[in-house]
Amino acid sequence: MAVFMRFPGFRDKAVTLSYDDGADADRRVVELMTKYGLKGTFNINHKAIGGAADHTMTAEELFALYRDSGNEVAVHGAEHFSLTEVDMAMATRDILSNREYLESMTGGIVRGMAYANGAESEEVQRMLKNCGIVYSRSVVSTHKFGLPKNWLSWDATCHHGDKELMTLVDQFLNGPMPGYLWARHPRLFYLWGHSFEYANNNDWHILEAFGQAFEGRDDVWHATNGQIYDYVKAFDSLVYSCDGTMIHNPTATDVYLDYFRRQICIKAGETVKAR
Ligand SMILES: [Zn+2]
Repeated sequence: MAVFMRFPGFRDKAVTLSYDDGADADRRVVELMTKYGLKGTFNINHKAIGGAADHTMTAEELFALYRDSGNEVAVHGAEHFSLTEVDMAMATRDILSNREYLESMTGGIVRGMAYANGAESEEVQRMLKNCGIVYSRSVVSTHKFGLPKNWLSWDATCHHGDKELMTLVDQFLNGPMPGYLWARHPRLFYLWGHSFEYANNNDWHILEAFGQAFEGRDDVWHATNGQIYDYVKAFDSLVYSCDGTMIHNPTATDVYLDYFRRQICIKAGETVKAR
């Protein structure tokens, strides 16, 4: 007997995508994501915008694309520095100037990130915290469906070029859930890559097949990286009475629970009798 988070609508699964570098091929990625109702986060190193053969979209076009499709924009470093390989003042400036630019272009608060070149360390994580970054994706594939223990080292399930991709999708959607505890925990499928990889390899069928697999699956929540972070933090913020009969939700988000095998939704700001 225990308490388990459920995603909105009591769903026990969520899927999120993460694409880096903001190349022109993001347009096709967004088209396919919209076609299949997928959501995700685009990590933008803004100094590259308009600067190369596959970066011809203007900043206005690029940010309109993400905004109009309901996707998130996140930090990738202004100049795509490997943060572990440069002076920490330069690294800090690379993150803050990127964050400030993205906030000016989106009109919103930007707190997410993906590590350029996967370059992360404990020192870099401390710096990111001081820069107001709350989550950052690595380039590690876990082949698993758990939520991150350290949000500043958020490992993906896999890259879209992974040979195991569709096997993992099948396991995620249809696989047996061995063990009692495993059966009760929510699952997250986290896919990442670069849109130019699809363009260079002409393998858009991978993203089509991925989207098709999720069609009609009402048990899966489609969310950006930031929406998942915010939702888990709302769950973490719930306040329980000593005997568990009362739960208070101090956040602005409705939270869904599997509470000792009962489904309970605690609306934003409410206190409920739970047992
Ligand atoms: Zn990159």
